[in-house]
Amino acid sequence: MSDQYESVIGLEVHVQLKTESKIFCSCPAQFGAEPNQNTCPVCLGLPGSLPVLNERALELAMKVGLALGCRISDRIKFDRKNYFYPDLPKAYQISQYDMPVSSKGHLAIELKSDAGTLAEKRIGITRAHLEEDAGKLLHEGVRDGSWVDYNRAGIPLLEIVSEPDLRSPEEAFQYLVSLKAILQYLGVSDCNMEEGSLRCDANVSIRQKGAAPFGTKVEIKNMNSFRAVHKAIAYEIKRQSEALETGTRIVQETRLWNESKGETFTMRSKEEAHDYRYFPEPDLVPFSVSSDQIEALRKSLPELPQARFERFRKQYGISDYDAYVLVAEKALADYFEACTREGANPKLASNWIQSELLALINLKKHSIKNLPNLPPKHLAGLIRLIENGTISGKIAKDVIVEMYDTKKSAEEIVKEKGLIQVTDTKLLEEVADRVIQANPKVAAEVRSGKAQAIGFLVGQVMKETQGKANPKMINEILTKKITSQK
Ligand code: ADP
Ligand code: MG
Ligand code: ZN
Repeated sequence: MSDQYESVIGLEVHVQLKTESKIFCSCPAQFGAEPNQNTCPVCLGLPGSLPVLNERALELAMKVGLALGCRISDRIKFDRKNYFYPDLPKAYQISQYDMPVSSKGHLAIELKSDAGTLAEKRIGITRAHLEEDAGKLLHEGVRDGSWVDYNRAGIPLLEIVSEPDLRSPEEAFQYLVSLKAILQYLGVSDCNMEEGSLRCDANVSIRQKGAAPFGTKVEIKNMNSFRAVHKAIAYEIKRQSEALETGTRIVQETRLWNESKGETFTMRSKEEAHDYRYFPEPDLVPFSVSSDQIEALRKSLPELPQARFERFRKQYGISDYDAYVLVAEKALADYFEACTREGANPKLASNWIQSELLALINLKKHSIKNLPNLPPKHLAGLIRLIENGTISGKIAKDVIVEMYDTKKSAEEIVKEKGLIQVTDTKLLEEVADRVIQANPKVAAEVRSGKAQAIGFLVGQVMKETQGKANPKMINEILTKKITSQK
């Protein structure tokens, strides 16, 4: 995008709330049942059936509202949003229009500067309202045309709408990271975009920098990962900037993201946009929640990511960035804290989790939530061996892989394989002499003041000792020997 334009982004996030039953009937809300098994007259919209609000869904929705600093509405009302589509059995969706569960909150996001420090930005939350999910149409892999599965119809959804406060794809990405963290800490949703328990529509417009009015917005749908949201917004900003540059009018429309092509394309234009003819749901009366109940709920909220972030910085003395990365994923933060409880040095634990452990998990396509082979106690054990000099960091990198594959403790592996670090000065001196003799040019470079050349010699000693030497000791021995050989 040329510098003269600024992008304006607002996100609409739908999350499936984790309740036992659906939002307006007692059908199970579980995923994975046989098609149309979890249905009843209410969620199939049969005449004469009446919806009853699931209190648990309301409670989870209010928890999210409170965690986002929203105001819980004095009166809460449901409305019918009318449109015709085969996945919607009643031809209207029960949603909320002008009296949502909560509104006017904010979400803090952390943005990394070029210098690596974090800066906080507050994004306004317009509202968070409850609604029911629709069914699912199956077009592929089925006999004769399209089929419909209404198991998902009536699953409780919370729609969280942001103000148009986001200014870049990266900000939108961080908004999703922060929002997901809060939802996970509250335990209200699985937040899995691939499985559809979290869905995000992005509204994007651009304007002349500094110009007050917003440009015409385009809504993008169909992204199935946070990365895809980032890419789709970046694509859309570029497309709109190019349109403005060539004098093409940007039309208000809904576009779909095509992941394999890396493009958005028109789904429907504003002209075809629905008039939803919202009107109050007559079968559910408006109601209020007492301030006592709201306060009790507020008190019941668990420690939230921002508070945990502050605590991690203070309690463990790790950097802002490290604290942020750990806290953003609840399971990661839990694993880290479990390691420290097992006596691991917090800084080392943070480093080892974020580098070696996460790399291993990604490689094996596992999840930090489920690591039976590497319990926190074992990682803490490995860190202890590094800290007390029993093994070098280099050896530890091999040991962690072995631990991961065998479920053995670090101590066991180190003992079995004889990996204990060589700190025998006499032996190291012998190897150092040999290495210096074999590499006179490099030694001369070190002597002439090119200090970093010593790295090569350290590497050679490491190689001869199969990585078991203590690098700090080798460095000292080599330096001493070379500088004394004037
Ligand atoms: P609509 O009535 O089309 O659904 P809303 O006013 O409800 O529009 O806003 C929907 C989303 O679009 C919100 O997240 C809001 O922040 C965002 N939004 C509104 N105007 C713009 C704009 N000009 N550019 C980008 N996003 C916008
Ligand atoms: Mg809207
Ligand atoms: Zn039902």
